[in-house]
Amino acid sequence: MNRSEQLFQEAQKFIPGGVNSPVRAFRGVGGTPRFIEKGKGPFIWDVEGNRYIDFVMSWGPLILGHSDSEVVKAISDQAKKGTSFGAPTEKEIELATLIHSAFPSVEKVRLVSSGTEAVMSVIRLARGVTGRKKILKCDGCYHGHADSLLIKAGSGGATFGIPNSAGVPEELTQLTISIPFNDVGILEQTLKKFGTEIACFILEPVPANMGVVLPKPDYLTKVRQLTKKYGVILIFDEVITGFRLAFGGAQELYGIKADLTCLGKIVGGGLPIGAFGGRSIFMDELAPEGKVYQAGTLSGNPIATSAGIATLKRLKNKKVYAELRKKMDYLCAPLESEIKKRGLPLTLNRIGSCFTIFFTKGPVTDFASANRSDTKKYAKYFHALLSKCVYTAPSQFETNFISTAHPISHLKNVRKVILAILNVL
Ligand code: PMP
Repeated sequence: MNRSEQLFQEAQKFIPGGVNSPVRAFRGVGGTPRFIEKGKGPFIWDVEGNRYIDFVMSWGPLILGHSDSEVVKAISDQAKKGTSFGAPTEKEIELATLIHSAFPSVEKVRLVSSGTEAVMSVIRLARGVTGRKKILKCDGCYHGHADSLLIKAGSGGATFGIPNSAGVPEELTQLTISIPFNDVGILEQTLKKFGTEIACFILEPVPANMGVVLPKPDYLTKVRQLTKKYGVILIFDEVITGFRLAFGGAQELYGIKADLTCLGKIVGGGLPIGAFGGRSIFMDELAPEGKVYQAGTLSGNPIATSAGIATLKRLKNKKVYAELRKKMDYLCAPLESEIKKRGLPLTLNRIGSCFTIFFTKGPVTDFASANRSDTKKYAKYFHALLSKCVYTAPSQFETNFISTAHPISHLKNVRKVILAILNVL
């Protein structure tokens, strides 16, 4: 038994399933999760000293790579001054200003400790300001594990085939309507029927939790127009796409302003954080200004904000995104032409520095088409890559990421490895 296997057995004694977040357990692909010792740049090392090139990147936050020296310095400088005060700090203003500079639609922002918390809070706010109870979401989008959002959810919900979690009261699920992504017709019908009861439409503008799925041309524009028409608050969950697709996330890329936005991951530079913000008329309804309650002991934590500030300052240089796109073209364009040339039953969806290979001919445009993927083949592909020290998402229904620290020379090797595997699967 190797060290990861030993640790996994030990972990299961006191931690449910041996992990603190389900997809980490490798149940979607089988086998034993690698226990990780350290990371640097594009690499992670497991407890046995094997080095892997990492495409999970902590599920998105590490756009600058593991253990970036400026981020580490920001964390350690702050830790020496104090780890938490539960009182306001100047750094919170600095991070809020940076967020606003990236997302002009975010006139005011509140920091929390995770993406789930951001989403949970923003839903309460939307219900509070509209006085409406129902919420609208898309099948296969994942918004964290708050009760109202665990309905036909992507990510772990998709990996484990759990459409609705046990423990969520039926009365609550009845208040959530879930519709297919990319379908304007169904959206319009739903708004026509329930519009006056719906507080908000929350979606990942570019879903990443059923694997990467791209919005059809005009889909987001239509979403914006229709939500405005029916007085439904539009919430973009940019926990993954924020600072990832562009400095200003999907909103910058597609030129669309959401009413409220959820952020997480990159905004904390790899430390636990979340944020939600948007139009002042809504945000000012939060306590202590307004009647919608929301709070947090570690909200705006100075170490997390320091890591976030150090990360966002680097991302403000927009060359970063051009560089990431170039790297992604380098990795994926030859794969795409090979898939096409050989008529392989695969679909490569990608945008910016995010990509997913689906084991279906495609196209993959929503949850139903993502679910046509052969997940057994995905598991084989995953383990073949892992055996070559390439660490990708241990589930079909996730996104792989590259960082500024992934060197072109290594991407060239990875491309060769992927091609060789796809050819024999
Ligand atoms: N929203 C989206 C789009 C996410 O991808 C995630 C997590 N992957 C969340 C919300 C929840 O964030 P957290 O895991 O930090 O609670």
